[in-house]
Amino acid sequence: SVKANVSEANVKQSGRNYKDQYKVHKEPFYQPQSNETALYEAAYAARLPVMIKGPTGCGKSRFVEHMAWKLGKPLITVACNEDMTASDLVGRYLLDANGTRWLDGPLTTAARIGAICYLDEIVEARQDTTVVIHPLTDHRRTLPLDKKGELLEAHPDFQLVISYNPGYQSLMKDLKQSTKQRFTAFEFDYPEAKLEAAIVAKETGMSEELASKLVKIGTTARNLKGHGLDEGISTRLLVYAATLIKGGVEPRDACRMALVRPITDDADIRDTLDHAIDATF
Ligand code: ADP
Repeated sequence: SVKANVSEANVKQSGRNYKDQYKVHKEPFYQPQSNETALYEAAYAARLPVMIKGPTGCGKSRFVEHMAWKLGKPLITVACNEDMTASDLVGRYLLDANGTRWLDGPLTTAARIGAICYLDEIVEARQDTTVVIHPLTDHRRTLPLDKKGELLEAHPDFQLVISYNPGYQSLMKDLKQSTKQRFTAFEFDYPEAKLEAAIVAKETGMSEELASKLVKIGTTARNLKGHGLDEGISTRLLVYAATLIKGGVEPRDACRMALVRPITDDADIRDTLDHAIDATF
C-alpha cells in the first residue's frame, strides 16, 4: 500500500483528475441473490457504514464495485494485511528532493473526494488501524490526521464499507464489538446451485449446463468444510476452472488445477475431490 500511496502522489502532481480515476466506468456484472442492492442503496442514502460478511470469493468485492458504479461514486479499495498500520490508511510525511511532504493515504483520499472506501478483509489489519475508522463511522464523520494536525471532515458522499470473513476468525483475530456495532451488515454466502451456474456461465461464456457440473463439484467440496477443509471451493475458483475450460484445457485437468490443488494439501481430501471430478466429467 505504500507503493500505491506513492503513485497517488504522482497522479496528484501530474494534475490529472483525481476523482475520475477512481470512478467505476463500466458496469461490473453482479448477479443479486436477494434484495441486497436496494438495501445497500438505502444504507448509502443515509451514509450508514456497511459491513459485508461472507466466505472468500463469494462476490463481496464485486457487489461493492457494482454499487459504486450504480451510485456513480468513486471507489477506493484497500486490501488489508497484518502489516498494515494506521499510517498506511491515513497518510504520512515523505521525504523528497524538496524536503518533507504530506501524502494522503487511501482512507483520507476517500474522505476528501467523497468516495466509497472499501477496506477488504479488515480483520487482517492491526487493532490500531481499526480504531482510526471509528470517528468516520458515527455522526462526527471526521478523520483526525494527528501527525499533520488536521481534523478532516468527510465529504458528504463518503461512505465506509468493510468486508469480513467470519470463517477465518480465531479469538485472536476478530473485530471488537465496539467496531462491529458501528456498521450495518450483509451476510453473503455462495449462491444456490442454479444461480451460481448462471454466474459462472455469464462470467465466462460457458454454457449453463457445463457450468452446473462445476457447481456440483463446488457443492461436494463445501460439504467437506469442517471435515478437513477450512473453506469450500469459491465462486471465484469455479470461474477460474470455467475460464481454463473455455481456453481449451481438458475439464478434468482444469478442475484439478483450479478447484482442488489451491484449496488443500491433504492427500485424502484431494483424492476425494479428484474422484468427484472424474465422476462428473
Ligand atoms: P470476495 O467475496 O472474495 O470479494 P469477489 O467479489 O472478488 O469475492 O468474487 C470473486 C469472483 O466470483 C468475481 O470475480 C466474479 O467472477 C464471481 N462472482 C461471485 N459472485 C458473483 C455475483 N453475485 N455476480 C457476479 N459475479 C460473481
